[in-house]
Amino acid sequence: MSDVRTCSICGKEFDADSIKSLCYDCRKVDRHLFGIIRDFLYDNPGASVNDVVEHTGVTSSVVLKYLREGRLETVGEIKLLNCEICGKPISYGTKCTDCQHKMDHSFQAVANVKERNTKQKMYTTTKKK
Ligand SMILES: [Zn+2]
Ligand SMILES: [Zn+2]
Repeated sequence: MSDVRTCSICGKEFDADSIKSLCYDCRKVDRHLFGIIRDFLYDNPGASVNDVVEHTGVTSSVVLKYLREGRLETVGEIKLLNCEICGKPISYGTKCTDCQHKMDHSFQAVANVKERNTKQKMYTTTKKK
């Protein structure tokens, strides 16, 4: 029994034989493109996204996708992505480590505030009576 999934690139349905979200054809293209970029970076360490796009013909959106997925990582001072919360340059992923931490904390903070507000309201109501 196989599971049918929809490819996240071309939208084609395919039998899910793994946890991948791409159909067989797109997976092949994806692997091929990634191989080209990896080989290029291997020969040209520290190349910028522009260099990669110019020399490999792979579009920048594909390169950025790999960066966001953490499959590629920028080195040194070159930070091509921005944290989606504070906009700080990051080398991979979607959030900087600070915001990742803050997110965990802010959830707690919200929970605390809510609790306090509820208590205060109850107190005021009791006083009015
Ligand atoms: Zn596909
Ligand atoms: Zn951030």
